[in-house]
Amino acid sequence: MHKILKMSKPVRVRFAPSPTGPLHMGGVRTALYNYLFAKRNNGTFIIRIEDTDQTRFVPGAQEYILESMKWCGIMPTEGPGLGGDYGPYVQSERKEMYKPFAEQLISEDKAYYAFDTAKELEKVREQAKQMGMPNWQYNSVTRMSMRNSLTLPKDEVEKLLSEGVPYVIRMKMPRNRDVRFQDIIRGWVVVNTNNLDDKVLFKSDGMPTYHLANVVDDYLMKISHVIRGEEWLPSAPLHYLLYEAFGWDCPEFAHLPLLLRPDGNGKLSKRDGDRLGFPVFPLDWHTSDGELYSGYREKGFHRQAFINMLAFLGWNPGTTQEIFSLEELANSFSLERVSKAGAKFDPDKTKWFQQQYLRATPDAELAQDLKNKIEKNDKLLNLEEICRLMKERATFVTDILEEGSYLFDRPKTYDFDTISKKWKPETTELIQGWMHKIDGLSDFSATAVESKFKNYLETKGVGIGAVLLPFRLLVTGVGMGPGMFDISAFLGKEEVLERMKTGLSLIVERVK
Ligand code: GLU
Repeated sequence: MHKILKMSKPVRVRFAPSPTGPLHMGGVRTALYNYLFAKRNNGTFIIRIEDTDQTRFVPGAQEYILESMKWCGIMPTEGPGLGGDYGPYVQSERKEMYKPFAEQLISEDKAYYAFDTAKELEKVREQAKQMGMPNWQYNSVTRMSMRNSLTLPKDEVEKLLSEGVPYVIRMKMPRNRDVRFQDIIRGWVVVNTNNLDDKVLFKSDGMPTYHLANVVDDYLMKISHVIRGEEWLPSAPLHYLLYEAFGWDCPEFAHLPLLLRPDGNGKLSKRDGDRLGFPVFPLDWHTSDGELYSGYREKGFHRQAFINMLAFLGWNPGTTQEIFSLEELANSFSLERVSKAGAKFDPDKTKWFQQQYLRATPDAELAQDLKNKIEKNDKLLNLEEICRLMKERATFVTDILEEGSYLFDRPKTYDFDTISKKWKPETTELIQGWMHKIDGLSDFSATAVESKFKNYLETKGVGIGAVLLPFRLLVTGVGMGPGMFDISAFLGKEEVLERMKTGLSLIVERVK
């Protein structure tokens, strides 16, 4: 058992996606870990939509994110459309709340107005480049040569503000200070402020930047733990300094390891999915220019297989158990067992999880699923029995249709390659003798067929291989599948004989 963290404050965690497109599986993992952490610690899981960058807004993305979480079964209890005492939960709807906070920092000399136009900034950057400094930054050294409320006379600043001249508000980054904070996953993080620039906190369009909005909202929403992707680690020192500047307690941080591509070390991207043929999104997403990003749900993955696989990308329970229900995950999860190292996505393991879940699904449930996938079942097939026969060999429900097509219809093709290799001169006669025995069977259960078959082999003095494979090829058209006696019992005597007769006439022609 892992210890439940002793916490003075109630646990409140948030998943804070930006609606800039469909949610990548890395994003779903962040949501999942937040969900599990909240469950494990009797906390609250919140979703907050961070849409302060209006230029990157993609219609439908917010709905997609929520639908994905719903499909995965990891719904938050506070968020847009869900209620909660700390709303609104969409940052653009909170727009008016942020400016007073930015102004508070200005009045305390921790931030300042900057009036430099885009053109002016471009010029400075260009000049710096020509002088051999390609990475010019607006920071504690350069700020004093720029147009801002630290360099301009006070009355001019007031004039510019009252005239409505566009400005941004920048953080006044302290000079040469070591910022240290502890990350639950990474341990101590130490960054010198000389490596940080004077980040924009408030933009000329009247919107806060991600940094300000994120910190203000985490404070106002009483977030206790910030659990997010590693790509946000470089922003964490700035966030830490903002909490300090406001005089607020900093939440605990936990930066999750990157998801890496199966081959090589790069970050897992949509292109890897296309290249290697697996989805990197939870649900299908149709782009505005008609492109399809395929999703796990539509590919036929079981939601729990997807979740189980994702949980293991960066976390392990410290035991050999691999199959976990969502509830079991919530009972076992701890941030202490999340690794620092990037987690390599493994498509084969993903398939393995899916197979395990398919096998564990009751036949009746699979049959219902299958029923929805076939147009009509006018032969009144026993779909439950088909599922029972095929599920050990399938990864997806649709495989049952494809790989077990001979359970639905007579074979349309025969594996002549195998037939030509296995069909011996005596095979036809052995098969005809076996057909005769079948004909005489009154009980056509799998066990009855099997014992008759064994008895037949004995009387003929031949091994099992001499008849079983040809029998299978005639009835199913293929060389592999579930037990032949089960298949026989499922199809029934008349059908088996009919198939053998048809198959034999075709095959005898071919092997002549
Ligand atoms: N809005 C950020 C994102 O899109 C969230 C970062 C955070 O959780 O602080 O990933």
